[in-house]
Amino acid sequence: MRKKILVLMILLIISILNLGWIKQEQDSTKKLDVLVTIDVECNRGDKPTLITGEGVSPKCGMYNIMDILEEYEFEGSFFVNVYEHKNYAEGVMANITKDIVSRGHEINLHAHPNSNLSFYNKGIENYNLEQQVYILNYGKNLIEKWTGVSPLAFRGGSYRINDDTFKALKIVGIPVDSTVYYENDHNKISNYKTINKVTKYNDIIEVPIIELRRKTSKGFKRSKFDVDWLTYDELIQVLEQAKNNDLKILNLMLHSFTFADMNGKSGGKLILQIGNKNIYGVDNVDIDDFKKMLEYIKTDDDIDIVTFKEWYEKYSDKDMINSRDFIPVIYR
Ligand SMILES: [Zn+2]
Repeated sequence: MRKKILVLMILLIISILNLGWIKQEQDSTKKLDVLVTIDVECNRGDKPTLITGEGVSPKCGMYNIMDILEEYEFEGSFFVNVYEHKNYAEGVMANITKDIVSRGHEINLHAHPNSNLSFYNKGIENYNLEQQVYILNYGKNLIEKWTGVSPLAFRGGSYRINDDTFKALKIVGIPVDSTVYYENDHNKISNYKTINKVTKYNDIIEVPIIELRRKTSKGFKRSKFDVDWLTYDELIQVLEQAKNNDLKILNLMLHSFTFADMNGKSGGKLILQIGNKNIYGVDNVDIDDFKKMLEYIKTDDDIDIVTFKEWYEKYSDKDMINSRDFIPVIYR
């Protein structure tokens, strides 16, 4: 009898220990990492309206994106087009980069050509390797000078990239790219290794722009995992499908001007015209959708928001073998 009780007690202790162990395992390995990426750019006029919301409302600009992320204790990855610094008064662009870093967010390099720069006034794919190295070093050095931080990731403006860009990234010491967007006209790479799954091109780790399919009555249309493009329900559909189909990492896109209403959907009058963009006010629908999505992620133990640095530090090529090259489909 005593023996039986003893055996039962040992079994009970083992099962309690086991449960604890399993729970810990689940807590420490999230199923899906989300990178919240924000392309910070204006490149029109002599004020950074599309970056800060200046002239319309600060609610339209990147500071509001930071405010919201901080409300949920998340960090964003801000890809800053530093090449437009000469459009503005001295120090304006520097302060934008300093604010991102001092508030604890990640800064990365974004590159659009600029008519004020003789060495970079057309798409990067038009330059040879040596020239691309010069262009990338110029941007990287500005970020380092202003913030003391070396950017870990790069995103070509308008998805502009070619095979030499990967070689140039390697030479300037930026190990991660996030420009490849499957079959986009501005991607001038010789072949696509994957669609949505992380891969490597010339020793550079590629975290692709997420390609989606939207189901319509006429079949499937292309779409993108972008707060500007999708409703709250659609954002959640993508998160859930990615999580349940082992995509492992998801690149969410915003721009510094994502919260500007550019098509008058809020019913407001045209406030400002900047270049080819019309601003009608604040896009409160997108702000609400973004907040609700962050709330959803916060309460889901299987989804986490990470920076490129956090992800890169734990990344190993082995992890990727278990992930799938999956394309989420959204239904309206
Ligand atoms: Zn851009």
